[in-house]
Amino acid sequence: MMDFDAHLAAYAAHSSKSRGRRYPEPAPGSRSEFQRDRDRIIHSTAFRRLEYKTQVFLNHEGDLFRTRLTHSIEVAQIGRTLARSLRLNEDLVEATALAHDLGHTPFGHVGQDVLNECMKDYGGFEHNLQSLRVVDHLEEHYGAFDGLNLSFETREGILKHCSLNNARQLGELGQRFIDKAQPSLEAQLTNLADEIAYNNHDIDDGLRSGLLTMAQMEEVELFARHRHAVEAQYPGLPGRRALYETIRLMITAMTADLVETSAARILDAAPKSIDDVRAGPPLIRFSDEMRAQTTALKRFLHANLYRHFQVNRMRVKASRVVRELFDAFMQDPVLLPTDYQVQGDVMKQARKIADYIAGMTDRYAIREHKRIFSLDQF
Ligand code: MG
Repeated sequence: MMDFDAHLAAYAAHSSKSRGRRYPEPAPGSRSEFQRDRDRIIHSTAFRRLEYKTQVFLNHEGDLFRTRLTHSIEVAQIGRTLARSLRLNEDLVEATALAHDLGHTPFGHVGQDVLNECMKDYGGFEHNLQSLRVVDHLEEHYGAFDGLNLSFETREGILKHCSLNNARQLGELGQRFIDKAQPSLEAQLTNLADEIAYNNHDIDDGLRSGLLTMAQMEEVELFARHRHAVEAQYPGLPGRRALYETIRLMITAMTADLVETSAARILDAAPKSIDDVRAGPPLIRFSDEMRAQTTALKRFLHANLYRHFQVNRMRVKASRVVRELFDAFMQDPVLLPTDYQVQGDVMKQARKIADYIAGMTDRYAIREHKRIFSLDQF
Protein backbone atom coordinates (compact mmCIF):
# COMPACT_ATOMS: atom_id res chain seq x y z
CA MET A 1 0.00 0.00 0.00
CA MET A 2 1.15 3.54 -0.71
CA ASP A 3 2.42 5.56 2.25
CA PHE A 4 0.56 8.85 2.19
CA ASP A 5 1.90 10.01 5.55
CA ALA A 6 5.69 9.80 5.02
CA HIS A 7 6.20 13.57 4.71
CA LEU A 8 3.98 14.54 7.63
CA ALA A 9 4.99 15.67 11.11
CA ALA A 10 4.20 13.32 14.01
CA TYR A 11 1.50 15.77 15.24
CA ALA A 12 -0.34 15.82 11.87
CA ALA A 13 -3.47 13.83 11.05
CA HIS A 14 -2.20 10.63 9.44
CA SER A 15 -4.43 8.92 6.91
CA SER A 16 -3.26 5.49 8.13
CA LYS A 17 -4.34 6.32 11.69
CA SER A 18 -7.74 7.80 10.87
CA ARG A 19 -10.45 7.15 13.45
CA GLY A 20 -12.46 5.82 10.56
CA ARG A 21 -15.92 6.20 9.05
CA ARG A 22 -19.37 5.68 10.53
CA TYR A 23 -19.87 2.81 8.07
CA PRO A 24 -16.58 0.94 7.72
CA GLU A 25 -15.21 0.71 4.18
CA PRO A 26 -12.07 -0.85 2.74
CA ALA A 27 -9.13 1.60 2.50
CA PRO A 28 -8.97 3.40 -0.86
CA GLY A 29 -6.08 1.99 -2.88
CA SER A 30 -4.57 4.89 -4.78
CA ARG A 31 -5.76 7.73 -2.58
CA SER A 32 -5.42 8.64 1.08
CA GLU A 33 -8.57 8.55 3.24
CA PHE A 34 -8.75 12.35 3.08
CA GLN A 35 -8.29 12.49 -0.68
CA ARG A 36 -11.28 10.19 -0.88
CA ASP A 37 -13.22 12.58 1.37
CA ARG A 38 -12.28 15.51 -0.85
CA ASP A 39 -13.41 13.65 -3.97
CA ARG A 40 -16.75 12.76 -2.39
CA ILE A 41 -17.27 16.39 -1.39
CA ILE A 42 -16.52 17.67 -4.90
CA HIS A 43 -18.98 15.15 -6.39
CA SER A 44 -21.75 16.09 -3.93
CA THR A 45 -24.88 18.02 -4.88
CA ALA A 46 -24.43 20.48 -2.01
CA PHE A 47 -20.99 21.42 -3.35
CA ARG A 48 -22.39 22.42 -6.75
CA ARG A 49 -25.05 24.53 -5.03
CA LEU A 50 -22.33 26.69 -3.47
CA GLU A 51 -21.91 28.36 -6.85
CA TYR A 52 -25.30 30.03 -6.45
CA LYS A 53 -25.14 30.91 -2.79
CA THR A 54 -24.30 34.36 -1.46
CA GLN A 55 -21.09 35.17 0.33
CA VAL A 56 -21.81 38.88 0.92
CA PHE A 57 -23.40 39.97 -2.35
CA LEU A 58 -26.34 38.19 -3.93
CA ASN A 59 -25.25 35.82 -6.64
CA HIS A 60 -26.92 37.78 -9.42
CA GLU A 61 -25.67 41.23 -8.34
CA GLY A 62 -22.49 40.83 -10.36
CA ASP A 63 -20.59 38.08 -12.11
CA LEU A 64 -17.28 38.79 -10.41
CA PHE A 65 -18.25 38.75 -6.74
CA ARG A 66 -17.26 35.82 -4.58
CA THR A 67 -19.79 33.10 -4.11
CA ARG A 68 -19.65 30.38 -1.47
CA LEU A 69 -17.96 28.20 -4.09
CA THR A 70 -15.10 30.52 -5.00
CA HIS A 71 -14.75 31.40 -1.30
CA SER A 72 -14.39 27.69 -0.42
CA ILE A 73 -11.75 27.24 -3.14
CA GLU A 74 -9.78 30.21 -1.82
CA VAL A 75 -9.93 28.76 1.70
CA ALA A 76 -8.65 25.41 0.39
CA GLN A 77 -5.80 27.07 -1.49
CA ILE A 78 -4.64 29.22 1.45
CA GLY A 79 -5.14 26.26 3.79
CA ARG A 80 -2.97 23.95 1.69
CA THR A 81 -0.13 26.44 1.66
CA LEU A 82 -0.29 26.78 5.44
CA ALA A 83 -0.55 23.01 5.92
CA ARG A 84 2.49 22.30 3.78
CA SER A 85 4.58 24.89 5.66
CA LEU A 86 3.75 23.19 8.97
CA ARG A 87 4.01 19.61 7.63
CA LEU A 88 0.32 19.06 8.29
CA ASN A 89 -2.02 17.02 6.14
CA GLU A 90 -2.88 19.08 3.03
CA ASP A 91 -5.49 16.60 1.85
CA LEU A 92 -7.42 16.85 5.11
CA VAL A 93 -7.25 20.65 5.05
CA GLU A 94 -8.48 20.70 1.46
CA ALA A 95 -11.39 18.36 2.19
CA THR A 96 -12.40 20.34 5.28
CA ALA A 97 -12.14 23.69 3.47
CA LEU A 98 -14.25 22.55 0.52
CA ALA A 99 -16.92 21.20 2.88
CA HIS A 100 -16.93 23.88 5.58
CA ASP A 101 -19.79 25.91 4.09
CA LEU A 102 -21.94 23.12 2.61
CA GLY A 103 -24.66 23.76 5.20
CA HIS A 104 -24.96 27.46 4.44
CA THR A 105 -28.44 28.77 3.73
CA PRO A 106 -29.19 30.98 0.74
CA PHE A 107 -28.47 34.72 1.26
CA GLY A 108 -25.44 34.37 3.53
CA HIS A 109 -25.58 34.90 7.27
CA VAL A 110 -28.98 36.52 7.31
CA GLY A 111 -30.49 33.29 5.97
CA GLN A 112 -28.99 31.34 8.84
CA ASP A 113 -30.10 33.88 11.47
CA VAL A 114 -33.69 33.92 10.25
CA LEU A 115 -33.88 30.16 9.92
CA ASN A 116 -32.53 29.86 13.46
CA GLU A 117 -35.30 32.18 14.70
CA CYS A 118 -37.94 30.24 12.76
CA MET A 119 -36.63 27.00 14.28
CA LYS A 120 -36.35 28.25 17.87
CA ASP A 121 -39.13 25.97 19.15
CA TYR A 122 -37.89 23.06 17.04
CA GLY A 123 -34.25 22.69 18.05
CA GLY A 124 -32.78 25.75 16.28
CA PHE A 125 -30.60 25.96 13.20
CA GLU A 126 -26.79 26.25 13.09
CA HIS A 127 -25.14 26.41 9.66
CA ASN A 128 -22.07 24.65 10.95
CA LEU A 129 -24.05 21.74 12.27
CA GLN A 130 -26.01 21.78 9.01
CA SER A 131 -22.75 21.28 7.05
CA LEU A 132 -22.23 18.13 9.09
CA ARG A 133 -25.84 17.10 8.55
CA VAL A 134 -25.33 17.44 4.78
CA VAL A 135 -22.31 15.13 4.74
CA ASP A 136 -23.71 12.72 7.35
CA HIS A 137 -27.35 12.44 6.29
CA LEU A 138 -28.69 14.59 3.47
CA GLU A 139 -26.56 13.72 0.44
CA GLU A 140 -28.06 10.84 -1.53
CA HIS A 141 -25.20 9.38 -3.53
CA TYR A 142 -24.42 5.90 -2.27
CA GLY A 143 -26.21 2.59 -2.06
CA ALA A 144 -24.94 1.54 1.34
CA PHE A 145 -25.48 4.68 3.41
CA ASP A 146 -27.02 8.15 3.62
CA GLY A 147 -24.59 11.04 3.32
CA LEU A 148 -20.99 10.83 2.17
CA ASN A 149 -19.63 8.65 5.00
CA LEU A 150 -16.59 10.90 5.52
CA SER A 151 -13.73 10.17 7.91
CA PHE A 152 -13.89 11.26 11.53
CA GLU A 153 -11.13 13.84 10.96
CA THR A 154 -12.92 15.63 8.11
CA ARG A 155 -16.19 15.67 10.08
CA GLU A 156 -14.29 16.98 13.14
CA GLY A 157 -12.91 19.81 10.99
CA ILE A 158 -16.30 20.70 9.52
CA LEU A 159 -17.87 21.08 12.97
CA LYS A 160 -16.18 24.30 14.08
CA HIS A 161 -18.62 25.24 16.79
CA CYS A 162 -21.55 23.53 18.35
CA SER A 163 -23.87 24.27 21.26
CA LEU A 164 -23.50 21.95 24.26
CA ASN A 165 -27.01 20.70 23.74
CA ASN A 166 -26.29 19.60 20.19
CA ALA A 167 -22.83 18.29 21.15
CA ARG A 168 -24.45 15.84 23.58
CA GLN A 169 -26.42 14.33 20.72
CA LEU A 170 -23.43 13.87 18.43
CA GLY A 171 -21.59 11.11 20.30
CA GLU A 172 -17.81 10.99 19.86
CA LEU A 173 -17.77 13.93 17.45
CA GLY A 174 -19.48 16.19 20.00
CA GLN A 175 -17.29 15.08 22.91
CA ARG A 176 -14.64 17.73 22.41
CA PHE A 177 -17.15 20.55 22.99
CA ILE A 178 -18.13 18.94 26.29
CA ASP A 179 -14.49 18.33 27.27
CA LYS A 180 -13.38 21.73 25.88
CA ALA A 181 -10.67 19.89 23.94
CA GLN A 182 -9.11 20.93 20.61
CA PRO A 183 -9.64 19.46 17.15
CA SER A 184 -6.70 18.47 14.89
CA LEU A 185 -4.22 21.15 13.85
CA GLU A 186 -5.63 20.77 10.32
CA ALA A 187 -9.07 21.80 11.63
CA GLN A 188 -7.63 24.73 13.60
CA LEU A 189 -5.72 25.83 10.52
CA THR A 190 -8.70 25.62 8.14
CA ASN A 191 -10.63 27.87 10.49
CA LEU A 192 -7.99 30.58 10.18
CA ALA A 193 -7.55 30.04 6.44
CA ASP A 194 -11.29 30.82 6.22
CA GLU A 195 -10.69 34.09 8.04
CA ILE A 196 -7.70 35.06 5.87
CA ALA A 197 -9.73 34.34 2.74
CA TYR A 198 -12.85 36.35 3.61
CA ASN A 199 -11.07 39.29 5.23
CA ASN A 200 -9.14 39.80 2.00
CA HIS A 201 -11.69 38.94 -0.64
CA ASP A 202 -14.37 41.04 1.04
CA ILE A 203 -12.13 44.09 0.64
CA ASP A 204 -11.89 43.37 -3.08
CA ASP A 205 -15.63 42.78 -3.45
CA GLY A 206 -16.45 45.80 -1.29
CA LEU A 207 -14.33 48.11 -3.45
CA ARG A 208 -15.55 46.55 -6.70
CA SER A 209 -19.16 47.14 -5.67
CA GLY A 210 -18.44 50.77 -4.83
CA LEU A 211 -19.79 50.32 -1.30
CA LEU A 212 -16.26 50.86 0.04
CA THR A 213 -13.77 53.45 -1.20
CA MET A 214 -9.98 53.39 -1.26
CA ALA A 215 -9.90 56.52 0.93
CA GLN A 216 -12.06 54.77 3.53
CA MET A 217 -9.86 51.67 3.46
CA GLU A 218 -6.89 53.82 4.49
CA GLU A 219 -8.46 53.93 7.97
CA VAL A 220 -7.49 50.30 8.37
CA GLU A 221 -3.84 50.11 9.42
CA LEU A 222 -3.21 46.66 7.98
CA PHE A 223 -4.48 47.80 4.59
CA ALA A 224 -2.85 51.25 4.63
CA ARG A 225 0.59 49.85 5.49
CA HIS A 226 0.59 47.46 2.54
CA ARG A 227 -1.01 50.00 0.23
CA HIS A 228 1.86 52.39 0.97
CA ALA A 229 4.41 49.63 0.37
CA VAL A 230 2.88 49.03 -3.08
CA GLU A 231 2.91 52.76 -3.83
CA ALA A 232 6.61 52.94 -2.86
CA GLN A 233 7.51 50.00 -5.09
CA TYR A 234 5.27 50.94 -8.05
CA PRO A 235 4.59 54.69 -7.90
CA GLY A 236 1.36 55.62 -9.71
CA LEU A 237 0.24 52.02 -10.31
CA PRO A 238 -3.38 52.26 -11.50
CA GLY A 239 -6.39 51.30 -9.33
CA ARG A 240 -7.11 47.61 -9.73
CA ARG A 241 -3.51 46.55 -9.98
CA ALA A 242 -2.60 48.56 -6.89
CA LEU A 243 -5.49 46.93 -5.06
CA TYR A 244 -4.53 43.40 -6.07
CA GLU A 245 -0.90 44.03 -5.13
CA THR A 246 -2.05 45.32 -1.73
CA ILE A 247 -4.27 42.32 -1.09
CA ARG A 248 -1.51 39.99 -2.24
CA LEU A 249 0.86 41.51 0.33
CA MET A 250 -1.80 41.29 3.04
CA ILE A 251 -2.40 37.58 2.41
CA THR A 252 1.34 36.97 2.43
CA ALA A 253 1.74 38.89 5.71
CA MET A 254 -1.13 37.02 7.38
CA THR A 255 0.01 33.56 6.25
CA ALA A 256 3.65 34.26 7.20
CA ASP A 257 2.58 35.49 10.64
CA LEU A 258 0.33 32.47 11.16
CA VAL A 259 3.03 29.99 10.15
CA GLU A 260 5.71 31.63 12.27
CA THR A 261 3.54 31.99 15.38
CA SER A 262 2.07 28.50 15.08
CA ALA A 263 5.44 26.84 14.41
CA ALA A 264 6.81 28.42 17.60
CA ARG A 265 3.79 27.29 19.62
CA ILE A 266 4.05 23.76 18.23
CA LEU A 267 7.76 23.64 19.09
CA ASP A 268 6.98 24.81 22.59
CA ALA A 269 4.11 22.39 23.25
CA ALA A 270 5.93 19.55 21.43
CA PRO A 271 2.89 17.37 20.69
CA LYS A 272 3.96 13.87 19.62
CA SER A 273 0.68 12.84 18.07
CA ILE A 274 -2.74 14.08 17.12
CA ASP A 275 -3.96 12.86 20.52
CA ASP A 276 -1.49 15.24 22.22
CA VAL A 277 -2.84 18.01 19.96
CA ARG A 278 -6.42 17.26 20.96
CA ALA A 279 -5.53 17.29 24.67
CA GLY A 280 -3.46 20.50 24.54
CA PRO A 281 -4.14 24.23 24.04
CA PRO A 282 -4.94 25.72 20.60
CA LEU A 283 -1.66 25.92 18.68
CA ILE A 284 -2.60 27.49 15.35
CA ARG A 285 -2.71 31.20 16.03
CA PHE A 286 -1.84 34.65 14.76
CA SER A 287 0.62 36.70 16.82
CA ASP A 288 -1.08 39.12 19.23
CA GLU A 289 -0.13 42.02 17.01
CA MET A 290 -1.59 40.45 13.84
CA ARG A 291 -4.69 39.38 15.78
CA ALA A 292 -5.26 42.99 16.86
CA GLN A 293 -4.93 44.15 13.25
CA THR A 294 -7.26 41.53 11.76
CA THR A 295 -9.79 42.34 14.49
CA ALA A 296 -9.67 46.01 13.49
CA LEU A 297 -10.15 45.03 9.84
CA LYS A 298 -13.13 42.83 10.71
CA ARG A 299 -14.72 45.63 12.73
CA PHE A 300 -14.25 47.97 9.81
CA LEU A 301 -15.82 45.53 7.33
CA HIS A 302 -18.69 44.89 9.70
CA ALA A 303 -19.53 48.56 10.14
CA ASN A 304 -18.89 49.74 6.59
CA LEU A 305 -19.65 46.79 4.32
CA TYR A 306 -21.79 44.13 6.01
CA ARG A 307 -24.06 46.84 7.49
CA HIS A 308 -24.01 49.17 4.47
CA PHE A 309 -27.57 50.30 3.74
CA GLN A 310 -27.52 48.68 0.31
CA VAL A 311 -26.47 45.37 1.86
CA ASN A 312 -29.16 45.91 4.53
CA ARG A 313 -31.82 46.17 1.83
CA MET A 314 -30.74 42.79 0.50
CA ARG A 315 -30.68 41.39 4.03
CA VAL A 316 -34.15 42.58 4.91
CA LYS A 317 -35.62 41.28 1.66
CA ALA A 318 -33.81 37.97 2.00
CA SER A 319 -34.98 37.51 5.57
CA ARG A 320 -38.55 38.07 4.40
CA VAL A 321 -38.18 35.38 1.72
CA VAL A 322 -36.82 32.82 4.20
CA ARG A 323 -39.34 33.59 6.93
CA GLU A 324 -42.35 33.61 4.62
CA LEU A 325 -41.32 30.33 3.00
CA PHE A 326 -40.83 28.72 6.40
CA ASP A 327 -44.18 29.94 7.73
CA ALA A 328 -46.05 28.91 4.59
CA PHE A 329 -44.59 25.39 4.66
CA MET A 330 -45.27 24.98 8.39
CA GLN A 331 -48.83 26.11 7.95
CA ASP A 332 -49.46 24.00 4.83
CA PRO A 333 -46.94 21.14 4.59
CA VAL A 334 -48.84 19.94 1.50
CA LEU A 335 -47.06 22.75 -0.40
CA LEU A 336 -43.78 20.87 0.08
CA PRO A 337 -42.35 18.37 -2.39
CA THR A 338 -43.63 14.96 -1.26
CA ASP A 339 -40.23 13.80 0.07
CA TYR A 340 -40.26 16.66 2.55
CA GLN A 341 -43.73 16.05 3.97
CA VAL A 342 -43.92 14.40 7.40
CA GLN A 343 -47.20 13.22 8.87
CA GLY A 344 -48.01 13.79 12.54
CA ASP A 345 -44.64 14.92 13.91
CA VAL A 346 -44.23 18.67 14.00
CA MET A 347 -40.57 18.57 15.17
CA LYS A 348 -39.57 16.35 12.27
CA GLN A 349 -41.64 18.40 9.84
CA ALA A 350 -39.91 21.62 10.95
CA ARG A 351 -36.49 20.02 10.53
CA LYS A 352 -37.38 18.83 7.02
CA ILE A 353 -38.48 22.36 6.12
CA ALA A 354 -35.21 23.76 7.48
CA ASP A 355 -33.29 21.19 5.38
CA TYR A 356 -35.32 22.13 2.32
CA ILE A 357 -34.81 25.88 2.73
CA ALA A 358 -31.12 25.56 3.73
CA GLY A 359 -30.48 23.53 0.59
CA MET A 360 -31.88 26.26 -1.69
CA THR A 361 -29.63 28.50 -3.76
CA ASP A 362 -30.38 32.24 -3.70
CA ARG A 363 -32.22 32.20 -6.99
CA TYR A 364 -34.10 29.00 -6.20
CA ALA A 365 -35.38 30.55 -2.95
CA ILE A 366 -36.50 33.69 -4.81
CA ARG A 367 -38.24 31.58 -7.47
CA GLU A 368 -39.86 29.33 -4.88
CA HIS A 369 -41.13 32.40 -3.03
CA LYS A 370 -42.70 33.66 -6.28
CA ARG A 371 -44.25 30.27 -7.00
CA ILE A 372 -45.85 30.17 -3.55
CA PHE A 373 -46.93 33.79 -3.19
CA SER A 374 -47.27 35.41 -6.61
CA LEU A 375 -50.81 35.77 -7.88
CA ASP A 376 -49.51 36.31 -11.40
CA GLN A 377 -48.33 32.72 -11.46
CA PHE A 378 -50.71 29.86 -10.78
MG1 MG B 1 -16.26 30.24 5.16
